[in-house]
Amino acid sequence: MANSNKNNEKNAKSSSLLDTFSLPLVNEKMNAFSRMANVIAEAIFIVNDEGVIEMINPLGAKFFGAPQEALVGQKWFSFLHERYREQYEYLFLNWNQNIELPLSHGPKEVLVERADRTWLEVDLSVSCLPASITESAPFYVGVMHSLTKHKSEYGELRRLASTDHLTGLANRHNLEKTLQKSWLECLNTDQAISLILIDVDYFKLFNDQYGHVNGDKCLQKIAKTIEQCLPANDCMAARYGGEEFAVILPRLPSVSAEIVAKDIQNQINILKFSELGLPSTFRVSVSQGIATEFGGRYRTSEALICAADTALYRAKSEGRNRISISL
Ligand code: GH3
Ligand code: MG
Ligand code: MG
Repeated sequence: MANSNKNNEKNAKSSSLLDTFSLPLVNEKMNAFSRMANVIAEAIFIVNDEGVIEMINPLGAKFFGAPQEALVGQKWFSFLHERYREQYEYLFLNWNQNIELPLSHGPKEVLVERADRTWLEVDLSVSCLPASITESAPFYVGVMHSLTKHKSEYGELRRLASTDHLTGLANRHNLEKTLQKSWLECLNTDQAISLILIDVDYFKLFNDQYGHVNGDKCLQKIAKTIEQCLPANDCMAARYGGEEFAVILPRLPSVSAEIVAKDIQNQINILKFSELGLPSTFRVSVSQGIATEFGGRYRTSEALICAADTALYRAKSEGRNRISISL
């Protein structure tokens, strides 16, 4: 991190004042502001018109990952990711040439490089302290909020909102969103896209005979089996509703989708449920409907779902445990 001789001098000057965590004595109002910033539960730093840190409070120092005394005298830009560094340097330079306008920038999301070389995502706002406080050369106050915790919580919320709680597969909303995206990608590149709808056979009977708790465990096993049959990373298995599942197969023509469906059928047919206390001969089956878009057969992704649903209905009416392809 850049640290000019001038900054070192300043550092030395400031260090003697660090016990009280106050600014070099510009005036009493600044000292009062500095003392207040020192006890506020926000990460705060004060810089001069060259961007040199004159004061940083304990939380601010924690954000930068260095002791307060090591930070005073350093240019605060040097703690920013290079993506933001120039932008802030330019902002300060520009502002110093138009000093009549009060600077009020952000909050803006930036990346701070900590002393240990780890990165911290923060929301940063920089404002000019009023002349009534500084009384002389301009000073700027920076306030930082850590976004790292919020981001991970947001990521977890997003994951929960797109996942089916029981099976861990994508939920219906996620399925519809992904289908629309894959649909457009495949159409734009003149490739096929197939959809399989899967419905567990006689599942009401399963619940009636073995109970809902076992029914839930059975759905979990079926979901896992379907997921294991996916042929590529960009394919998606989802819980469409109750005991119905869907599989999106981008780039797969009807014949390939049929191979995947046969695999799903075979793998589900051999599932055993003895760990649930069911007879060792007990088996489940699914019925499947396949529809494929290629060459403008369907107008929308919703029409593709409807066609797969019609095919599924046919598979049911023709006796179940079978695959029907949209005509
Ligand atoms: P079909 O072969 O015609 O599909 O017969 P089915 O009995 O599977 O069809 P039906 O639609 O009559 O019944 C579906 C059953 O699935 C009824 C419902 O209780 C059960 N089900 C739906 N969601 C869940 C769930 O989350 N857990 C459990 N245990 N059962 C569920
Ligand atoms: Mg059903
Ligand atoms: Mg069913």
